[in-house]
Amino acid sequence: MYDFIVIGGGIAGSSIAYFLSKGGKSVAIIEKNKVASGASGAAGAFINPVIGKPSPLKELHDKAFAFTVEHLTRDFPHLYNQCGTLLLPKTEKSIEEFRAHEKFMDFRTSYLAPQELDFLTPKAARFGAYMCHDAGVIDPKRFCMELASRCDIYENRLADEIVKNDEAYEVCGIRGRAVIVATGANKELLHCDYLRYGMIGLWGQKIEVEGLPHLGCNISGEALVSVYRGDRFAIGATYTRSESELAVSDEASSELIEAANAIAEIDVKTILETKGGLRSTSIDHFPIVGEMVNNSAVLEKFPYIKTGFRPRTAQMERMSGLYIFTGHGSKGFTLGFYTAKLLCDSLLCGTPLDERIENSRIFIKWARKVNCN
Ligand SMILES: Cc1cc2nc3c(=O)[nH]c(=O)nc-3n(C[C@H](O)[C@H](O)[C@H](O)COP(=O)(O)OP(=O)(O)OC[C@H]3O[C@@H](n4cnc5c(N)ncnc54)[C@H](O)[C@@H]3O)c2cc1C
Repeated sequence: MYDFIVIGGGIAGSSIAYFLSKGGKSVAIIEKNKVASGASGAAGAFINPVIGKPSPLKELHDKAFAFTVEHLTRDFPHLYNQCGTLLLPKTEKSIEEFRAHEKFMDFRTSYLAPQELDFLTPKAARFGAYMCHDAGVIDPKRFCMELASRCDIYENRLADEIVKNDEAYEVCGIRGRAVIVATGANKELLHCDYLRYGMIGLWGQKIEVEGLPHLGCNISGEALVSVYRGDRFAIGATYTRSESELAVSDEASSELIEAANAIAEIDVKTILETKGGLRSTSIDHFPIVGEMVNNSAVLEKFPYIKTGFRPRTAQMERMSGLYIFTGHGSKGFTLGFYTAKLLCDSLLCGTPLDERIENSRIFIKWARKVNCN
C-alpha cells in the first residue's frame, strides 16, 4: 500500500512525486506510456520569467521562476543550462514596454543594441533585444525522469478507473491511501463536469535539430530556440486549441524552421525528432490544484452558489484523498515545479493552498455559469 498514487508521469506528476518522496512518503507513478511522453516531452523547456505589469498571475509566475531557478542551479546543475534567454521585441514599441516593466522585474536583464546582435538576422536584430541572464533551459525528459526516480514507476499502464474501497484507493491493481491525478490535458479519467468546463487544451509541436553552433543562448521570438546541455537544440512551438491530441505534421515543422531562420540563419540539416503535446490550460490561466470538490454534496448544501453565494473554501465537501494537479499552461517547468511544492506542503504540513490555484474556484465558476437552472 503506497501513501500516494500519482497518475501521469509528466512534469506535474513527476514534481509532486519528487517532493512527496523527499518528504518521506511512498509514491507510485502510473503512466500510460513513458515518463515525459505527453506535453512535457514536447516542451522547449524554457525556464523563463514572465514580463509584464504586476498582477496576481504575474506574482505567482515570479515566485515560481525564482523558486525553480534556485532549485535547478542547486540540485540539477547537470541538466539546467543557465545560458540566458534573449527576448526579441516584435516592434519598437515592445522595447518601450519592456523598459516600462523593468522596475517590476527582480531578475537580471540587460539591453543589447542591434550592433551587439550580429549572430541574428538584421531584421531580428533591428530593435535590439533584452537578455534575461537568470533564464535557461532544462532537458525535459531527463528532468522528469530524475524527479520520478525516487518512486516506483509503472509505465505502459493506462488508468481507466479509480476505485475506492474502505479507506484505500486502487488504480491498475495498485493500492494507495490517496490519489493525485496529474494527467495533463486528459480530463476523461475523473468524469468531472467542472474540470471539463474549466480546462482548455492547447496542442503544440517542437523539433529537435542538429547544429546551430553559433548560438550561445536561448532565443524567444517568433520561434523559440532552446539550447540544451550537450549541444542539442530544439525549435518550438506551435499553438493550436484542441480538446484532443493531434498528429505531428511536416508542415508545422517547416513553419518552425522558417520562423527560426527569420531570427538567425539556421542551417537545419537534420531533424532528429519531432514531438507534439497537449498543454493543459485553465479558463483563468491559474493552475488547478487540490482535493476535488464533491459537486453534488456542495450544490445540495449550498444551492445559492448558483445565484452568487460563495462558501468559504474550507466549507466545501471534498472527495476525500482524491487530488487534481494540472492546468500549468505553457509554463509547466516553472509553475508545475513550484505548485508541486505548494501541494506537497499542504498535504504533508497542512499549509493551506493558495486560494488562486485551489480547484474549488473552477467549481464555483462552473456552478454559476453552466449549472444555473
Ligand atoms: C510544444 C510545447 C512547448 C512548450 N514549451 C514550454 C517551455 O518552454 N517551458 C515550460 O515551462 N513549458 C512549456 N510547455 C508547457 C509544458 O510542456 C506543460 O505545461 C507541461 O508539460 C504540462 O505537464 P503535465 O504533467 O501537466 O502534462 P503532461 O506532460 O501531458 O503529462 C501528463 C501525463 O499523463 C499521462 N496520462 C494521461 N492520461 C493517463 C491515464 N489515464 N493513465 C495513465 N497516464 C495518463 C500522459 O501519458 C502524460 O505522460 C510547452 C508545451 C508544448 C506542447
